[in-house]
Amino acid sequence: MKIGVFALQGAFAEHVQMLHRLGAEAFEIHSPADWEREKDGIILPGGESTAQLKLLHDLGLFDAVKAAIERGLPVFGTCAGMILLAKEATNDSRCRLATMDIRVRRNAYGRQLGSFHTLSSMKGIGDDIPMTFIRAPYIAEVLSPYCEVLAEVNGHIVAARQGNQLVTSFHPELDDDLRVHEWFLELC
Ligand code: GLN
Repeated sequence: MKIGVFALQGAFAEHVQMLHRLGAEAFEIHSPADWEREKDGIILPGGESTAQLKLLHDLGLFDAVKAAIERGLPVFGTCAGMILLAKEATNDSRCRLATMDIRVRRNAYGRQLGSFHTLSSMKGIGDDIPMTFIRAPYIAEVLSPYCEVLAEVNGHIVAARQGNQLVTSFHPELDDDLRVHEWFLELC
């Protein structure tokens, strides 16, 4: 199993470590040459979605990444990565990859509650999954029956799956629990 982790900006090194701990091959995508490498799936990490979108465009990779996901390349988007995949966003008018039938709300928890940690269950993955939120978005609405809600915290959707696309509002790579990444590898 070989997974490409976008390493343009944000929390990518932690994803690579999680994948290595699970025995998968993981490599960082910094350039179009890295993107061309053979892979079974990709991860779009958390960070700053504005910067990530700009870098995807600057590298000329935006269209290729969107097309690959639309053709079925498995993708796991965490936090900012989830924003990039959303078809709609309540408070964001930028042009995103827009491959997933979700409407997100950026920085949904406000400044005060922007960062917090909790444990919650994820459908098909398990109970007591550690969830670290950092200036996180949540999913305000699922836009089609193809998209399945996997987790909710405080009445807000924080994880979902649509075909080969998995998204979380939180950062599973920042905790010590491997189950979410393990589940993504099974998807791949
Ligand atoms: N607030 C960030 C954004 O809108 C996402 C935060 C994160 O990825 N931890 O891009």
